Amino acid sequence: MSRAEPIYRPPLDALRLPLIGHLLRARRGRLLFQIPLLLVSALLIYDGFTGEQIASRNLATVSAWVHYRGFVILALLLAGNLFCMSCPFALPRTLAKRLASRGRRFPRVLRNKWLAIGGLFLIFWLYEVTDMWASPLLTAWIIIAYFVASFALELLFNESPFCKYICPLGAFNFAYSTLSPLQISVRDLKTCQTCVGKECINGSYSAQPVILVDQIGDKPPIKHDSRGVLGCGTLLYAPQIKSNMDCTLCLDCARACPHDNVILGLRSPLRELSALHSLPKRWDVNFLLVALAFMGIVNAFGMVPPVYALLREMALALGTDAEWLLLLIIFLIGSIVLPALLSIGAAWLANALTGVPKRPRALRDTFAAFAPAFVPIGAGIWAAHYGFHFIVGALVIVPVFHNFLLDHGVTIFGTEVNWKLGALLDAEQFAVVQVVLLIGGYLLSLILARRIAVREFGAARAQLAFLPYALLFLALLLASFFIFSQPMEMRGTTELDNLFH
Ligand code: SF4
Ligand code: SF4
Repeated sequence: MSRAEPIYRPPLDALRLPLIGHLLRARRGRLLFQIPLLLVSALLIYDGFTGEQIASRNLATVSAWVHYRGFVILALLLAGNLFCMSCPFALPRTLAKRLASRGRRFPRVLRNKWLAIGGLFLIFWLYEVTDMWASPLLTAWIIIAYFVASFALELLFNESPFCKYICPLGAFNFAYSTLSPLQISVRDLKTCQTCVGKECINGSYSAQPVILVDQIGDKPPIKHDSRGVLGCGTLLYAPQIKSNMDCTLCLDCARACPHDNVILGLRSPLRELSALHSLPKRWDVNFLLVALAFMGIVNAFGMVPPVYALLREMALALGTDAEWLLLLIIFLIGSIVLPALLSIGAAWLANALTGVPKRPRALRDTFAAFAPAFVPIGAGIWAAHYGFHFIVGALVIVPVFHNFLLDHGVTIFGTEVNWKLGALLDAEQFAVVQVVLLIGGYLLSLILARRIAVREFGAARAQLAFLPYALLFLALLLASFFIFSQPMEMRGTTELDNLFH
């Protein structure tokens, strides 16, 4: 094995932690996380189909729309993409991969984030139009649709197209895992340079340690067996990874690497977002980061009274009361048109204010350089929103599960259901946390934008390039304050469904 010096030594490698590191790297390690979520999914589907069709009394709606979303954002900010790691939808995907003969590659024209952006838009819009949060049955169907789609796509194509290009939940996780404190990397780059098998991406023929392709001759040949490990499903190559984008944290790379060279290192949450070239200069990837910040505002806006006033005004102006159409217009403008116009406008202004006429800077370069700065403010908005639903409704799961057991004749916890359980904190107390999250995200975005401006335009012109983004982030912050200061509908936790905070 190579004795070369390491290229990057994070202060901590989660894969080398006692017990948890061993579990994470274990051949069946991922299953330990996936199987509990698979059982939970089965339970939600069952209760969604057979239980009471009341959002606040059904496991499907309470778990999916209160707990899942709260845990996702918390996990992304504190650790990493733990929900893609534990994703039960990846189980049929893995089965399909083993059943399928080598599939075709996903069509080139679709190998980008536009489908995922469209999927995010669609799911947020449908969530409002169909009152998805209020329907256990619909929630159960969504879960089934996820299983079917991930299985079918894996059967037809290689490269895990469902995770990488389509899944809206995955796109959300990928985008905000760019802020996470853990990232896949390698211990020693020189080992990778001399590694012949590149098993981290190609997969290994058998459970390790077995024969290392690059050390044939040093050891007696060992028969390859069928217990091999798949390589990276989203085709990331461990020694070149600079970003968490597209990493499902499945850890197959760590299991497949015969040199034990893959690490899951601790990093500064701003490291990736402020580094040059950590994300590709593509419109789709960078627009995902920008659009999600705006989608956070629009999603919350759909739950506060001003949206009803706006719907009434629009209905009068357009002469229609078709709510699906009016919401479509609001969501299209707020989630797609405004982020596109404002972020491209800010990039154009930054170029115009700092430009040297004879050497015009490409609009895409500036747009892509500043797009990562939208991640912290977006994460703050989503955390303030999903955190609110979680904090105010977390304990509802206790009476709902108790009631579910009683409905199925299980009385071990007694027969009295305590329907009063609900909030971990009351809404007024959590309002302070929301302010901290929103201002914290805003300040981190400002810090990032300032760093990017200095890096891209030099210290002398940085202030001018920074200005349009500083104004845009201020507008996003003020819009968030306005929305979060409104009474917000509390969905899926109480039959009153209206808590004011
Ligand atoms: S991470 Fe492991 S398998 Fe991948 S190139 Fe490096 S040494 Fe080879
Ligand atoms: S195999 Fe790919 S997706 Fe899985 S943890 Fe490694 S880099 Fe991430």
